[in-house]
Formats: sequence, structure tokens, C-alpha cells
Amino acid sequence: MQTLEKVNTIINTIKNNIEKIGRQLRIIEVCGTHTVSIYRNGFHTLFKGYIDFISGPGCPVCVTHEGYIDNLIELAKMNHTIYTFGDLLKVPGKSMSLAEAKAKGAKIKIMYSPVDAVENIAEDEEAIIAAVGFETTVPAFALSLEKVLEKDLKNVKFACELKTIDQPLKILLKDHIKVDGLILPGHVATILGVDGFKFVEEFGIPSVISGFEKYDILLSLLSLTQSILDNDFTVKNEYKRVVKKEGNTVAIRYIERFFERTDAYFRGLGLIEGGGLRLKSEYSAFSIQLEYDYDSLSNSACRCADVLTGKLKPFECPLFERVCTPQTPKGACMVSQEGSCNAYFRFGKWK
Ligand code: SF4
Repeated sequence: MQTLEKVNTIINTIKNNIEKIGRQLRIIEVCGTHTVSIYRNGFHTLFKGYIDFISGPGCPVCVTHEGYIDNLIELAKMNHTIYTFGDLLKVPGKSMSLAEAKAKGAKIKIMYSPVDAVENIAEDEEAIIAAVGFETTVPAFALSLEKVLEKDLKNVKFACELKTIDQPLKILLKDHIKVDGLILPGHVATILGVDGFKFVEEFGIPSVISGFEKYDILLSLLSLTQSILDNDFTVKNEYKRVVKKEGNTVAIRYIERFFERTDAYFRGLGLIEGGGLRLKSEYSAFSIQLEYDYDSLSNSACRCADVLTGKLKPFECPLFERVCTPQTPKGACMVSQEGSCNAYFRFGKWK
């Protein structure tokens, strides 16, 4: 428990640092869980005029193309059973979401973990596991494939839409956005370690790996504003209780055993070379090949792409709150609990 006095001292030091820097800072939080923490704890109002928080592309559901959803629905129509995390259910596809397809009788089941899914797949099911996520989630898919191999299951395949964090961040920082600092994703860093984010230093932008509690965020902002003041581009680690320099080497080995880099589509950033992971060729029998047109998106009114690249705040989208709400989402950023639009909607007082 931190004393109020200590917390106030940190807040004042952050503000003092920014006053010395002499301008409002643009800080991007790469991970959706940070977006939620920042808005739930009111840091956007506490630091109003000091920090402009910008949401990044680190919510896996938000960056997923609707064509992936359409592919899963088509597979369900062909009598496959789709196992998916619940947060993908309401993401709009071209004509419907997985939830709507399920209501119409498609065999779509929610999994709590891919390993759990493998344990529960019936012998007579042709199961497809929807593999969506960043490096944090990939080890769980690796473990589930190991279980499939152990059990010698022939009726399970993976629909891989797995993402890596480094490539989209490089593209974002190089071509899309100018920021003063980055709050780096603590969950992914748990796997990749501080070493996994050393590439950020080459961009000459201060950064910090942060935890998700309010005190974590404050300490990270303190570190980040100090780095900006000092022109210090070293990646700082304010999540030391969880994140090691070298990361989780066991999990990394698991990822490398089953997966290899591939190109991947990110909403707002397009197709990114090496931005994703697919099963290695020796495991291709367990992979479903997906095909969709990256350039075609049906809901042109949804501005998720701009939100995810820091060009637009959710409340600037004409659909926000009027027609797009968590109950009636028009885009992935409103569906996911980690989406910026969803966070703005739930924790309000954004204006
Ligand atoms: Fe898309 Fe809705 Fe966000 Fe607008 S408010 S960008 S429609 S998710």
C-alpha cells in the first residue's frame, strides 16, 4: 500500500518534469490493458494539459481483419466446430459476427484456454482453434499443440492469426506517429523480456515497460518523463517483479519450437512483413489456410484504423456513442474490453 503523500509526491514530480520539458507530451500506451488502466484510474484527466495519451495497436482483437471472422464463419458452416476466446465473438465480420453465427446454429464454442479446448474436443468433432493474440498468448497455443501431438488427435487444426509486437511498433514509429515516449506492454515483456524491446532505442524515443496497477502506471510515467528530460533512450523496466531482462526463456523456446515468422495484417497498418506467427511447416497438418482480401473492409464508417494509429480519438469518430456502443459495436475497438473505444465509452469523462 502506498501512502497518499508518496503518491502525491510522484504526481507532482511528473508534472514538474513536464513543466521543465515545456510542452504537453504525446505518450503512446501500446497495450490495450494499459489503455483501460489509464482511463479507469482517470490519469487522462489528472494529467490533462500535461500528457496526451494515445492508444496503440496492442489489442489483438482490435487489429484483426474482419476477413478472419468471415473465414471462421465459413468453416463453421462447413460443419467444423470453432473454439474461440470470448472477446472475438462480437467482432463484426462482413455480414455477421461469430456470436450471430452461433445464434443461427453455427458450432462455435468459447474456450477459456487453448489447452482446455484440446481437453474438451469430442472425438466426432472437426475442431478449429482460433489462434489470436500477441506473444503473451502464443505459448498457450504452443502447449495446446503439444497436447494435440501427445494425444495423437487428428481432428484439430489451428486458424492462426497470431501477431508479434516488434514489427508493427517499428512501422508505427517510423511511418505513422510522432510521440515523446512509449509505455511498453508489460504482458508481452513478461515473455520477451527487456531485451525484446531494445529495438525501440534505435528510434531515439524514451520508453518504459510498465505494470498495470495505478501505482505501476505512475512510476512508469515518472521514469518516462525523467528519461524525456534527460534525452535517455534506454528501455526502462518498471515491472521488475514480473519482467526479466531475458524474458521467459522457457516460453520463448516453446514459441520457437512450434512457430515461425510470417506476414500479418494489422488494422490501420496493413500487411506487415514478419508481423505474425504461423505453425512451422512440420506442423502444417494442424494448420488451416485462411484467405481474405486485406484491402477490403466493409464498414468504411468505422474509424478503428485511425484510432489504432493515434490519428483519431474514439470520441472523434462520428459513430462513437451515437450508434456504436459496447452493446451495438460497429468496430473491433468497441468490442474488445481492451479496445480504446470501449475504454473511452466505459470510463468516460474524456472530453
Ligand atoms: Fe469503430 Fe465504433 Fe470506434 Fe468508431 S467508435 S472507431 S465505429 S469501434
